[in-house]
Amino acid sequence: MTFDLTPEQDQLRDAVRALGRRYGHSYFVEKARAGEHTTELWAEAGRLGYLGVNIPTEYGGGGGGITELAIVCEELAAAGCPLLLLVVSPAIAATVLSRHGTDEQRKRHLPGLADGSQKIVFAITEPEAGSNFHRLGTVARRDGDGWLLNGRKCYISGVDEAGHVLVVARTEDSSTGKLKPALFLVPTDAAGLTRSKLDMEIVSPENQFLLYLDDVRVPADALLGESLDAGLPALFAGLNPERITVAAMGAGTGRYAIERASEYTATRKVWGGRSIGSHQGVSHPLAHAAVQVELARLMIQKAATLYDAGRDLEAGVAGNMAKYAAGEAAALAVDTAVQVLGGAGMTTEYGVATLLGAVRAGRIAPVSREMILNFVAQHVLGQDKSY
Ligand SMILES: Cc1cc2nc3c(=O)[nH]c(=O)nc-3n(C[C@H](O)[C@H](O)[C@H](O)COP(=O)(O)OP(=O)(O)OC[C@H]3O[C@@H](n4cnc5c(N)ncnc54)[C@H](O)[C@@H]3O)c2cc1C
Repeated sequence: MTFDLTPEQDQLRDAVRALGRRYGHSYFVEKARAGEHTTELWAEAGRLGYLGVNIPTEYGGGGGGITELAIVCEELAAAGCPLLLLVVSPAIAATVLSRHGTDEQRKRHLPGLADGSQKIVFAITEPEAGSNFHRLGTVARRDGDGWLLNGRKCYISGVDEAGHVLVVARTEDSSTGKLKPALFLVPTDAAGLTRSKLDMEIVSPENQFLLYLDDVRVPADALLGESLDAGLPALFAGLNPERITVAAMGAGTGRYAIERASEYTATRKVWGGRSIGSHQGVSHPLAHAAVQVELARLMIQKAATLYDAGRDLEAGVAGNMAKYAAGEAAALAVDTAVQVLGGAGMTTEYGVATLLGAVRAGRIAPVSREMILNFVAQHVLGQDKSY
């Protein structure tokens, strides 16, 4: 057993950290407040190869795994730039394409994902289905040699920045007559696809949208994979990378908040010569949060290692646990940071309260803490399903 990164991973971590620090949290907040995107940071990260670390080298990627992508997510977040689209585009879309796309789809999309010039976002959530994706109501019907898609999606991140959206729909299975999941690569400017931006209480340069699919016609090769049978495995292929990288983003955000807070409490003096951090009422909550973040990081490392070793089922358990732990730890760390900073904690300048919305959302999305507890109760503890 080893807890050390390889020298290459170490270098990647240092390099991404340096890039993140050059931009920093104030850049992230300024972009969000201006209604703009972190275009410069994304482009630079793409140019330097950080967005494609997990994409095979033959498509211009780094040939690494989710361990490397988790490092990128964590270090940018630890620099105050938690980019949710890293979870959607390189983690979900690139993995799904690499594992289940056709040769043609891989050649067409992966190089652009690797250098950051292209983003593909992911749409599964629906107003009527929510956490229960078995109830998905977006349906794809054959239309000549193509497909016609109809349905509604909600909270879809980054549609305004992406060239394609990977839509999870259902198709009729000719052998059983039942509906089964299928994924479609739909251009964001397709006729019949419209969107409206949701107002979210999250300070972020990345936006969420309602998507309306009204008779969206796509050609046969928009169906992800060689056949309809690719749908279910492709859908599951995206889940572990999603959970692991979103957990890494949470852990990085937690580290960022604790670092900001510790710097402040070590130097702030309001009772004579002692820093406020010398009072255990201040330092213990911070230390407690640091322990929770570090525990989450261990689980992320385990999940990523299992995933990269091809041990998908075990990675599923570890990835869910990592996501749960990191979501809770990030929320605790940011809330604690706000508290120990006092009034400064609520200012924009000190850059911690700006993360409250994001870490709160991290306990709901992309999979809620309750659905993870359901998963653990059923699959680890052998309990009956209640729903
Ligand atoms: C910032 C943000 C970005 C997002 N980006 C995307 C995206 O890019 N693409 C996408 O497809 N989706 C996205 N989502 C949607 C996200 O995945 C969903 O919000 C999440 O899966 C929960 O679904 P829901 O909101 O419909 O909640 P619901 O399913 O309505 O659940 C509401 C509450 O009930 C609880 N609950 C539901 N069922 C059970 C049960 N059986 N047992 C116990 N508790 C239960 C849930 O845990 C939750 O607390 C995003 C959401 C947010 C907030």
